[in-house]
Amino acid sequence: MPGEGSPSPSLVIVGEAPGAEEAKTGRPFVGKAGQLLDRTLEASGLNRKEIFITNVLKCRPPGNREPQQDECEACEGWLAAQIEALSPRVVLTLGRVAFEVLSGRKATMKRVRGHLFNLGTTELFPTFHPAYALRNPQGLRALQEDISALAGWLVAQED
Ligand code: URA
Repeated sequence: MPGEGSPSPSLVIVGEAPGAEEAKTGRPFVGKAGQLLDRTLEASGLNRKEIFITNVLKCRPPGNREPQQDECEACEGWLAAQIEALSPRVVLTLGRVAFEVLSGRKATMKRVRGHLFNLGTTELFPTFHPAYALRNPQGLRALQEDISALAGWLVAQED
C-alpha cells in the first residue's frame, strides 16, 4: 500500500505499517488510530487532503507485530523515493520505528518528540504514534500538543 494524499504536500506523515483495516481498504490510517489522527489534524487546522500519508512498511506484518529490521530495510528505498518526489517542508513521523528508519538514529520518543531534525532538503518532526496515544493519556496530550505546534510552524513558514 503506497499511501495517499496530495501530490505536492507541505507535510508528509509516516506511520509504521498498515493494520487490518488499512490492508482491507488499501488506505493508510483508516482504523481507530487513523480516526484519532484525523481528529487531531482537524483540531489543529490541518486538512488530510493537503497532506500525504504513508507508512514505513508497505504491507501489513503478519499478526500485526512490530516491523522487523529486514522488513524496514526492504521498504526504506521506497519511502526515501516518495519523500524525494513529494519534497515536503516537513515529515511528521509517528512512533519510534518511523523516526529511527528516517533519521538513522536510535531514540526514545519522550526525548525526541516535538523537535525538528534536519534531513537534508526537508525536516523530520517526531511524535508518538496515535495507537500509543489511544492507550496512554500522556501520549495523547503529547500527540495533540506536537501536532498543534507543527501546524503553527507550517503557518509561520508560509509568511
Ligand atoms: N498504524 C500505522 O502505523 N499505519 C497505519 O496506516 C495504520 C495504523
